[in-house]
Amino acid sequence: MFASTRIALRLTQAGLAQRFYATGAGANTLLFVEHKDGLIGGATLNALTAASQLGGSVTALVAGDAPEAVAQQVAKLAGVSKILTAKDAAYANNLPEDIAPLLVAAQAQFGFTHLLTGHTAVGKNIFPRAAALMDVAAVSDITGIEAEDTFVRPIYAGNAIATVKSGDKIKVVTVRGTAFEAAASSNESSVPEEAAPTAEKPSLTQWVSEEIQKSDRPDLGTAKRVISGGRGMKNGENFTLLYDLADKIGAAVGASRAAVDAGFVDNSLQVGQTGKIVAPELYVAVGISGAIQHLAGMKDSKTIVAINKDADAPIFQVADYGLVEDLFKAIPELTEKIAK
Ligand SMILES: Cc1cc2nc3c(=O)[nH]c(=O)nc-3n(C[C@H](O)[C@H](O)[C@H](O)COP(=O)(O)OP(=O)(O)OC[C@H]3O[C@@H](n4cnc5c(N)ncnc54)[C@H](O)[C@@H]3O)c2cc1C
Repeated sequence: MFASTRIALRLTQAGLAQRFYATGAGANTLLFVEHKDGLIGGATLNALTAASQLGGSVTALVAGDAPEAVAQQVAKLAGVSKILTAKDAAYANNLPEDIAPLLVAAQAQFGFTHLLTGHTAVGKNIFPRAAALMDVAAVSDITGIEAEDTFVRPIYAGNAIATVKSGDKIKVVTVRGTAFEAAASSNESSVPEEAAPTAEKPSLTQWVSEEIQKSDRPDLGTAKRVISGGRGMKNGENFTLLYDLADKIGAAVGASRAAVDAGFVDNSLQVGQTGKIVAPELYVAVGISGAIQHLAGMKDSKTIVAINKDADAPIFQVADYGLVEDLFKAIPELTEKIAK
């Protein structure tokens, strides 16, 4: 199938051996760069690593009302061979109705074989629409690349791993950030840059406003340590126990959906199938039973610690360290000992 395919073994961040193929001729990939407040989104760096594994060339598309500063940062990333910029106020807020036609126009002009971006809210919003406009199937949330047309992705909340082969000419792919390391900076100083082709801007929707939860704590999606609380926390005030411990060890705080649904904490803290996918070095689950939908969001964490008063709680099956104890006794003790 791929005469010049080279198979190699590499270690992922999670320490798992993963196969990847680098091809001789390679793909012609378009990487959609997600950015906010002048900074490249972290998931784009992971998607760039995935794009590099396809081999061939990677063209980065930076769209926005002022894409120049972000394009300069993209130029310093290892693996980017060219940059397309699309400067227009219509692209300022990642509205899929306007960005998807831009991806289609770029693909038509440059003949991209693959379009990649992070499997984030933005990526999930734009890429299926772009795939539909191109009349191809979107391949979402990939965790591995077997070949230029074959991808690995979790299904059934991560309970099964599917290897899917796309017969479409253009592969429109979103990449799970925790499955690929972030691309590094390169010493390459001159990456060619040109304007992206103009595309239709249907303006079917208008950006009105957004409300963003601001926090001084580490970002849940990228934190090296996460402490999550579940229904066992009993109420929102008790989450102070977790914040106190988190502050001592520089951790982000997360939650189960039960805790979010009960109104204990904001839904931006939800970890799981319908929340954030995290893979920190340390994940501490406190008063969380370990439903598969929760595990789908954290089971790739390097070290999992569970604190639960029920010795039969399923969370202990995935935990590296388990403490069968009342959390209202264990957490203050732990915080006190760490403080010492
Ligand atoms: C389509 C779908 C999507 C979903 N998506 C998500 C998702 O993204 N994320 C998610 O988390 N869930 C998700 N869920 C919900 C999931 O199925 C579970 O209902 C949820 O994860 C349970 O949360 P929990 O573990 O906090 O609560 P429970 O299952 O009620 O567990 C509470 C735990 O706390 C322990 N506990 C109680 N008191 C104490 C104490 N004092 N000390 C120590 N331990 C104590 C109990 O022993 C128990 O194990 C989804 C469900 C569906 C159907």
